[in-house]
This record gives sequence, structure tokens and C-alpha cells, in this order.
Amino acid sequence: MAETATQMQVSDEVAIQIEGMNKWYGSFHVLRDINLTVQRGERIVIAGPSGSGKSTLIRCINALEEHQQGKIIVDGTLLSSDIKNIDTIRSEVGMVFQHFNLFPHLTILENCTLAPIWVRKTPKREAEEVAMHFLEKVKIPEQADKYPGQLSGGQQQRVAIARSLCMRPRIMLFDEPTSALDPEMIKEVLDTMVELAEEGMTMLCVTHEMGFARQVANRVIFMDQGQIVEQNEPEEFFNNPKSDRTKLFLSQIL
Ligand code: ADP
Ligand code: MG
Repeated sequence: MAETATQMQVSDEVAIQIEGMNKWYGSFHVLRDINLTVQRGERIVIAGPSGSGKSTLIRCINALEEHQQGKIIVDGTLLSSDIKNIDTIRSEVGMVFQHFNLFPHLTILENCTLAPIWVRKTPKREAEEVAMHFLEKVKIPEQADKYPGQLSGGQQQRVAIARSLCMRPRIMLFDEPTSALDPEMIKEVLDTMVELAEEGMTMLCVTHEMGFARQVANRVIFMDQGQIVEQNEPEEFFNNPKSDRTKLFLSQIL
């Protein structure tokens, strides 16, 4: 990433802007010519076969991975290897992974207050109040003093969402948040995500939950072999897919 840290002149209506972005892992060209503009409040579902680059794209957006060509502008900040820049992005962008990535030796409450206290320098008492607010929001305030290992998978994933929200992100990224969960727990996590969407959170969500996509997304993006092959509003995407690759994918999952 050659560019220096800069506040970019993009409309405040734009949450994420990606232009001509390419990424390689060594000699493997994993993301090809990605162009994507996400408006504030948009809810985007990213679909596509395994290995198509969905996780890599999401990870580039919060600078967990570097890209080699093109621009990524998140919340007006151009991503570069400048460390201050990366900290800005990480505090604006929440990320929820397939495996909840909670700290096993910390209580649920401590998991939620760790970053606000150490990164945001929020006083402990205030951080705990905010954490309880979000634990109530995801409907597990009574679990605050337990450890992650004492909770079900669905509860742990809701903690992971609450923990992200404690940093007051303007954008939330989800990478297959329900795919490690038993079927009976998927709904409770999706319900939390639907609620977030209804409150106007800007969301990018990699998921195979096509019911969620129909209900919540205003755009579905289909990726294959490192490229955005097709994108459309959900009804059109599901009922009238354009490319053969999208048709094949839909025939396999629906
Ligand atoms: P998806 O999330 O769509 O399944 P990924 O973004 O995880 O796809 O991976 C895209 C491609 O990049 C895959 O071929 C994968 O094997 C490869 N890949 C992912 N991470 C790495 C890495 N750290 N080093 C090298 N190759 C990787
Ligand atoms: Mg993935």
C-alpha cells in the first residue's frame, strides 16, 4: 500500500468506497479489480462459493489484510499501512467472525469492556454500563459474569456482536456469523442482526442464509474466483440471476 494516510474527500453518504482493488497472496491473485461503493445505512450480503475471496475482501476492509493495488476508503479514511490510520479504521468498523474469538479467560463483561477501556480509554464504570446496555440488547445480560466456555454457541456469538457494538462502530462486517452454529441457534443470532439492520447500521455480511438476504439486504453481491461477478437487489438476484456462475451457485444452495 503505497499511499500515505489521508482524509479523503468522499461524500459523507458513502461508508466504503473501493476502486480498482487487487490483492495477491504471493503469486496467487486472490481479488481482481474490485469496485464497490457502499452507502451509509446499506445492508449488503456477499455470497459465493468457498474460496471465492469473500473473507479476504472483508478482511481488507478493516485492514486485517493488505491490498497491493487500488484504493479502499472507509468512513473517509484511505487505508494505508500507516498505523494511526489502521487504528482509526478498526475503531470505526466492527467485525464478527465465524468462530466467535472471545477471550476464554475473561468474563463476558470483561470481553466487552476490554477494548473500550484500553483502546478508547473509557473509564471502567462507564465501559461496564455501555457493555450491559449492549448485552441487554442481545438479550443475555444475565450471562455477564460467566466465561465464554459456559455459554452456548449462539450466546457466544451474540456476545461477540455486543462486544463489537461497545466500540460504537459505524460499520459492521460479518463473516459467516452463523455457519459454526447448530441450527436451533442460528435464528437467535440472525434476529440480533435483523434488529441492527432495522436501526440503520451499515452492514456487510458474508452469509449463506438466503432468507436473511431476502429479508434484510438491499443488495446481494455474488463473488467467484476473486471477482464481483454480479450484484443486484435480492428479489432480482434470486429470481433473475444473469450470469451462468450465479445460476449454478443458486441451484446448489437453494
Ligand atoms: P472465501 O471466504 O470466499 O471462502 P477466502 O477469502 O477465504 O475465500 O480465500 C480466497 C482464496 O485465497 C482461497 O483460494 C484461499 O485458499 C486463499 N487464501 C486465503 N487466505 C490465504 C492466505 N493467508 N495465504 C494464501 N492464500 C490464502
Ligand atoms: Mg470465508
